[in-house]
Amino acid sequence: MLMTTDVTAARIEAKPLPYAYDALAPAISEETLRYHHDKHYEGYVAKLNELIAYTPYADLSLEEIVRTADGTVFNNAAQAWNHEFYFGQFSPQPQDAPTGPLAEAIDRSFGSFDAMKAEMSKAAASLFGSGWVWLVEDGTGKLSILSTRNAGSPVRHGLRPLLCFDVWEHAYYIDYRNRRADAIAATWPLIDWKKVEERYRTR
Ligand code: MN
Repeated sequence: MLMTTDVTAARIEAKPLPYAYDALAPAISEETLRYHHDKHYEGYVAKLNELIAYTPYADLSLEEIVRTADGTVFNNAAQAWNHEFYFGQFSPQPQDAPTGPLAEAIDRSFGSFDAMKAEMSKAAASLFGSGWVWLVEDGTGKLSILSTRNAGSPVRHGLRPLLCFDVWEHAYYIDYRNRRADAIAATWPLIDWKKVEERYRTR
């Protein structure tokens, strides 16, 4: 049987954590990041590579798989995409607030930066079960908060993600046990708004 796709190398590669494992402590501990990045995220990527070998998905980018796949392939692809996006938004020395066009869009859409944070925190605390909470842009510059269950992805809703909270228990249970709202509150100061502004600019 002729194979046109080279699957000897993993098609989708896990991105390394863009800071040291202990860089976000104590808000997010080294132990949490080692489990979250190396076991959960890399696990989704490894499973995805197994699932897509010798299928038409093997020729697609990760985002194209998220846009088009269903079932187990979607679940693992979206979890891979979501985690890469999540780890990429933090910094041990973050720009602590949005500026420029993003700050203006937040004010226009929510009234104020604090009102946006309150709405997103509330959505994160109240999402039942596992999932993600997102700050998204709808294509016209309007921002809103979106909750997705399990591996759910804004790109499946035609929305552009700017920022997310992972509210699966594995994201916070080592450090905060069942106190999800405390974990979210501690996470806000780690968000590097310079990175979020870059996401907002590149559309
Ligand atoms: Mn996670």
